[in-house]
Amino acid sequence: MASIFSRIIAGEIPGKFVYKDELVSAFWDISPRRKVHILIVPNKEIPTVSDVTAEDEAMLGRMFTAARKIAEDLGIADSGYRLIVNCKEHGGQEVYHIHMHLVGGEPVGPFLPKYNPKSEE
Ligand code: 5GP
Repeated sequence: MASIFSRIIAGEIPGKFVYKDELVSAFWDISPRRKVHILIVPNKEIPTVSDVTAEDEAMLGRMFTAARKIAEDLGIADSGYRLIVNCKEHGGQEVYHIHMHLVGGEPVGPFLPKYNPKSEE
C-alpha cells in the first residue's frame, strides 16, 4: 500500500506544497513543531535511510538543494534552520517513507541533551 506521503505527492490527499520537481516534493507538516515545518520527501517511495542505495544519491542530494531553495523562498535562509531525518524506531520515525524535516522561522531550541549513560541504569 502506498505511504501517506506517496498519496499526498500523487494528489490523492491534500498537501500544502512549497516545492516539487522530478525527484523530490515538499509540503507543510500537518502538525508543525515550529513556525516553519516542511517535509522534503523523495517522489520514489523508500522506507528508511537503511534502504537507500548508490542509485539514490542524486535524489538524496536534491533533498538538500531543495531545502536550501525552500529556506530562501520562505525567508529563513539567513536566520537558519534545522534539518532532521529520523530512522526507524530508535530514531523516532513514524512515517516509513524517507523524509527530511526543515524546521525554523524561530529558534528551534537545543540539540540533543548531553549523553548520560547512567540515566540508562
Ligand atoms: P517522522 O516521525 O516519521 O520523522 O515524521 C513524520 C511527520 O509526518 C510528522 O511530523 C507528522 O506530523 C507528519 N505527518 C503525518 N501524517 C501527515 C499527513 O497526512 N500530512 C502531512 N502533511 N504530514 C503528516
